[in-house]
Amino acid sequence: MTHKHDEEGPPCRHMESLLQKTAEGSARGVSRWYALAHAARCPRCGRFLRSLRDMISRLRGQKEMPEEKEAVERLRKLIHAEAESN
Ligand SMILES: [Zn+2]
Repeated sequence: MTHKHDEEGPPCRHMESLLQKTAEGSARGVSRWYALAHAARCPRCGRFLRSLRDMISRLRGQKEMPEEKEAVERLRKLIHAEAESN
């Protein structure tokens, strides 16, 4: 038996589009509530929802953010380095 960290991996497949709608604010009522309730209990969906919200608020809020670009660039290099070491 292998136990991986629950937070790793993609969100539940059947929740993905609902979580996207919730993050962008187009999901309403019960479906929004359902998505939030699920995300609260499911670490992977919770993480997915947080990162979506992050991304959306960044896209809507700040158009020019040089520091952000640097951070993304650094992250990209980090990912590359990790990929090469494997
Ligand atoms: Zn889930």
